[in-house]
Amino acid sequence: MEWSSSGSDDSGSEGVLDASQMGNAEAVAGNLERLVLSASGDKQESPKTMSRFRRLHTLNLSCNALTEVPAVLQQCAKLEKLSLRSNRLTELPKWMACLKNLRQLNLSGNGLKQFPLPILELTNLKYLYMGGNVLESLPSAIDKLENLQILYLGGNQLVEVPHTLGNMLTLTALVLCDNKLRALPQCIAQLENLRSLLLHKNQLRTLPQEIVGLRGLRELSLRDNPLVVRFVRDMAQQVPTLRELAARVVSSNRLPYSTLPLTLKKYLDTAHHCVNPMCQGVFFDSRVEHVKFVDFCGKYRVPLLHYLCSQRCANGPDADLPPEAGQRLLRKVLLG
Ligand SMILES: [Zn+2]
Repeated sequence: MEWSSSGSDDSGSEGVLDASQMGNAEAVAGNLERLVLSASGDKQESPKTMSRFRRLHTLNLSCNALTEVPAVLQQCAKLEKLSLRSNRLTELPKWMACLKNLRQLNLSGNGLKQFPLPILELTNLKYLYMGGNVLESLPSAIDKLENLQILYLGGNQLVEVPHTLGNMLTLTALVLCDNKLRALPQCIAQLENLRSLLLHKNQLRTLPQEIVGLRGLRELSLRDNPLVVRFVRDMAQQVPTLRELAARVVSSNRLPYSTLPLTLKKYLDTAHHCVNPMCQGVFFDSRVEHVKFVDFCGKYRVPLLHYLCSQRCANGPDADLPPEAGQRLLRKVLLG
């Protein structure tokens, strides 16, 4: 049976079960499958009686000023949807890892500074909302959440995201807006099911050029990022080493190197081709970062970061956009 009749489980406006109703709730507790205790008046009374709600699959405990997750939830093993939105949680207990049936977990609007590791054990999660916390980093093992479709991390303090994010192939929406990201890893381009990528209000200067491979993307937000071309002029190439120069000759002339020492062979295997179509060159460690505006999904012109073998290759016809042109293209991105 269902206690609340509203379709939304997270609005806080539906049949709130407050402390005065708990007597009735006790009577039906054994069969109750859905319970809303959003903004409940009594913080102590309601969780205590939760132990009888063993069949509960949806539980909304949002807006209750909770400083810890009530331990009685350990007994709600059938929980599929849990909202702890807008409380005062700064960590999650280890036993949360036991809620294996959770499909949807809302932790937005709390005080989480570190990503709670018990979440990584909830491998059936499809929707994870952690917006409006103070997260500073994500664990590289985040790809354990192999069924996750929506990852909402807007409004945190993230400076970077781990490369393993690229392994989360089920993701359809990745929300990283309003953080402190300075760059995105190339591996984002592996997320072939991604339809929505929200990156506004960050410190991004460019995007990895591989991102144009995300053909399914329908929504891309980039406003409030310093996506400018100005810094291109400031880039200086490090002087190539003799090893780099020799390796460039070997590689671009396709000289056989199978008899060379293993370390040199491995080095030669890391050759990257210069992206300038007029250049047949390769590079190894020494490269020039270059920004190019590229049509994206037929809708945007986005500044992409790619690498060239030398400064000479960066001075091609479209390499040095005048500042006005950069501004004009940028505006298109922001409005797109
Ligand atoms: Zn080149």
